[in-house]
Amino acid sequence: MEIYHDEYSNPEITVRWDQSKCIHAGVCYTELGKVFNPLRRPWIDVDQASAEEIMKVVEKCPTGALTAVRNRDKGQTASEAEKKEQPVEQPVW
Ligand code: SF4
Repeated sequence: MEIYHDEYSNPEITVRWDQSKCIHAGVCYTELGKVFNPLRRPWIDVDQASAEEIMKVVEKCPTGALTAVRNRDKGQTASEAEKKEQPVEQPVW
């Protein structure tokens, strides 16, 4: 069986879906069917609700099949990681 790891994004948010973890419990499409619609292709449309609404539903996914990140946070994380990089000190001989 083919396993899908799909990613759906707009400027605000990126949602990832790991098919191997999804038990089709239906929390996502019951709570926010305009974004999560298994009868539509692609089945996740992140333009149909606010990033806040999507984050709230993703947090309720019982298996972790759905994950999401605010794209502004991705940027902050990257810059924070760069700040933490320290130059390697060379030994003084
Ligand atoms: S809430 Fe999570 S486990 Fe349930 S159908 Fe949606 S993605 Fe699958």
